[in-house]
Order: sequence, then C-alpha cells, then structure tokens
Amino acid sequence: MKIAVIGAGSCGLAALRHCTSGAYDVEVVCYEKTDQVGGTWVYREETGLDRYGLPIHTSMYKNLRTNLPKEVMGYPDFPVPNSPESYLTRSQMLNFLVSYCDHFKLRPYIRLLHNVELVEPSNGDRKWTVKVKDLKNNVVLNESFDAVMVCNGHYFEPSFPNLKGQNVYQGKQMHSHDYRVPNTFLDKNVVVIGAGPSGMDLALDISGYAKRVFLSHHSRDPIGTVFPSNVTQKPDVRELTEQNVVFKDGTSEPVDIVFYCTGYKYSFPFLSEKCGVRVDSNMVTPLWKHLISIKNTSLALVGLPYYVCAFNMFDLQVRFVLQYWSGKRDFPSQEDMLREEAEELENRAKEGLQKRHFHMMGFNQDRYYDDLANTAGITPLPPVLTKLHNESSTNFLDDLVHYREKKYRIIDDYNFIQL
Ligand SMILES: Cc1cc2nc3c(=O)[nH]c(=O)nc-3n(C[C@H](O)[C@H](O)[C@H](O)COP(=O)(O)OP(=O)(O)OC[C@H]3O[C@@H](n4cnc5c(N)ncnc54)[C@H](O)[C@@H]3O)c2cc1C
Repeated sequence: MKIAVIGAGSCGLAALRHCTSGAYDVEVVCYEKTDQVGGTWVYREETGLDRYGLPIHTSMYKNLRTNLPKEVMGYPDFPVPNSPESYLTRSQMLNFLVSYCDHFKLRPYIRLLHNVELVEPSNGDRKWTVKVKDLKNNVVLNESFDAVMVCNGHYFEPSFPNLKGQNVYQGKQMHSHDYRVPNTFLDKNVVVIGAGPSGMDLALDISGYAKRVFLSHHSRDPIGTVFPSNVTQKPDVRELTEQNVVFKDGTSEPVDIVFYCTGYKYSFPFLSEKCGVRVDSNMVTPLWKHLISIKNTSLALVGLPYYVCAFNMFDLQVRFVLQYWSGKRDFPSQEDMLREEAEELENRAKEGLQKRHFHMMGFNQDRYYDDLANTAGITPLPPVLTKLHNESSTNFLDDLVHYREKKYRIIDDYNFIQL
C-alpha cells in the first residue's frame, strides 16, 4: 500500500513514524510545503505570502510558551525530555519535534517545499491522484496513491466575525494569525476580541506594551483571573465607528487596533469535491470518529479534534487508521458510520454544544481516546494525560499570569504530582 501524508507538522511526523515502523507493509511519501518540519511550531517573522506566493502557514509568535505542561505534550513512545520547567518555549517544542523526526529517521520520506495542490479519487481504480508542486524547481507532479493522510493543521485560516462598521473603522485590524511581537502595540489602545486560549494569552502578551487593552468576550461571568491593571474586560462588540469600538453594554472606547483572536476555520483547499468531505459550520463531515472519510475510507483527516493532548492523540489516531488500512480490522458499513456521527452530533447538541464545536474534546477527551483504542484494539493513552490536561486548563482560567510557574511529574498511568 502506498500512502501520501500531507504536512510535516507534529501530526504528519506521527503519521510517518508509524508508516515507517515496519509493523505495516506500506510505502509512504510526505509532502511539506515549507522548507522545514515542525508546522506551526516554526516561528517566522513574515506574515502574508511567502516567496512562492503561498499564504504563511504558521501562527506562532515570538514569546509563546506552551499552554500545556510538557508532561502531556510528548508522543506515547517519545516523551518530551526532562527539564526543570513544565511549560516550554516555542523553540524547545520545535527542537523536540526535530529530535523526534531525526530519532525515527523520518527525513528520507519528506519532500520539503512540495505544495499539495489537489487530491482527488482517480477514475475507477480506487486510487488517489495527488497533484503536487515542487516549489523549488517549479514543476507540477501527479502521483498515484492507495491512501491519503491529511495532516495540514487547522490553525492557519483565520476566522473573522462580521461586525457592523468594519469598513468604516479607520484604525488597524489584525488577526492573531499575523501576530508575532508585542512591540507594535506600544502605547496603543487595543480591543482584543475573543477570550479563548489565544485571546487571553495575547491580551497578556501585549499588556506590557499597550496603553490599554479591552478584552471583549461573551462569557456569562467575568473571567476569574487577575489581569494586569491596564486590561479591562468588556462584553461583545456592537459596532465599530471611525475611531471607536462600541460594546453591547453601550460603553464606547477609542481604540487604535482591533485585534481579532477569533480562532480559525478548518480548511482543506486541496481536497476536490469528489473526495466527499465538506466543512459545514466548521464541522468536517461526514467522518467516522472525527477521522476517516465515510465516503472514501482510504482518506483520513488526522488531527482535527482540539483541546486535546495533541501529539499523543495524533499518534493514537494514526495507529487507529493503520489498523484498518492494513486489514487488521474491517470498517463498519457506511450506514453505521453515518449513524454514529449523527448520534454524536445529537448528543453534543443535548449538552449545549453547537455544530461548530463538534471537534472540541476538552474535559471529556479521554472518552474519545478510549473509544479509538477499544474500537481498533490498540494500546490506549494513559488516563493521567486527561487528568493533567484538565488541571492545567483549570489553572489557565484561574491564574493566567502565574499558572506556567507550576511544575509537574507523571508518576504512573493514573497519577501526577505537582513538584
Ligand atoms: C499559536 C499556537 C499555540 C499553540 N500552543 C499549543 C500548546 O501550547 N500546546 C499544544 O498541545 N498545542 C498547541 N497548539 C496547537 C498546535 O496546532 C498543535 O500542537 C500541533 O502542532 C498541530 O500540528 P499539525 O501537524 O496538526 O498542524 P501544523 O503544525 O499546522 O502542521 C501542518 C503542516 O502541513 C503543511 N501543509 C499545509 N498545507 C499543505 C499543503 N497543501 N501541501 C503541503 N504541506 C502542507 C504546513 O506547512 C505544516 O507544516 C498551538 C497552536 C498555535 C497556532
């Protein structure tokens, strides 16, 4: 079986690691459009388009420290090495990914500066045609594969809200995807829209430079954490005027920058319609277990669930996929897979979750991990990962400014200690 892996971020590397382990009879090629492995962990000062005219993929910023302890950020068979801190810098994480790539000798399988432009089922032979551009040599190739693992990430296509007055407002408007350094906010009045992980973190990152920061969000209760004194919480934005932002409580503030920390959209610009996967209100569908195209089961979209222990989950998902593709397990019928997806959507709706949150795992992520492991009969992820992820997420909300000072150690599959 010949497999194409699209993307050499932490997810694509996990895919390669298992495809090349010798446990499966597969050939694999990984296409990566940038000149490095590591995906969004590769920091680049540039924003906009790169020298090949392609959108810059990474959303990494200079001062980023991880929002999860390293103890949950490794791979099952390749943990992040011991070091005094639990919350690492972006360069430590990138070095970790590079060492993973080198440890498992993955480089020979990776074609850097190869942008996948189109993936579509080829006529009649149950194969996939992958059209890929060798950017350095400016040559387009059409390659044939039996299966495709899409590992292109989901933090690169900004999502913007529609706000009244966006065209009238005279100040600067930017998305967190293009944020790199806080200096550009020096002495500015800024409204940060959105209080997810990036809105909270970036409000803090710029607060040392900006004059005032208004953190606009629609959480019912004010966020409990103590922000620096120049950060003020505000409700949703009602509209923008030439110089001001007007909030839903009727208050108005003059601002120099509207900073959208409003998240990202799932995007697979290279998947032809014939692949049978679409994005509906940010739900990627129809997929079995958030992962496998129900219409064409030799297409897997790895890495979609969020608020998870990402690298561990990628590894689990890849092992799951390979169990089926190698014939060790048989797929259920299309009807059963579709029914399962519909039931999950219904159950989530009962819990008050909208379609756009379909791939959110969060505090119940262990249910997803256990389901994958039990269904495919593969080694599960240890429960301690979810426990420590949840501890960290709670601390993030309670004490944004100091939670990264905490240090942890995992002592067994079920328990961790705080040092
Ligand atoms: C600012 C920021 C901070 C984060 N912090 C944390 C954190 O603290 N902890 C945590 O666990 N997670 C964090 N994450 C989530 C992070 O996205 C995941 O940890 C993980 O790195 C995602 O890996 P990936 O391989 O799925 O995607 P990516 O890292 O985005 O990699 C996708 C790769 O695919 C390539 N690609 C895309 N399209 C094509 C194409 N058409 N052809 C060829 N190649 C292509 C890209 O160039 C890229 O290299 C953060 C994300 C962001 C944006």
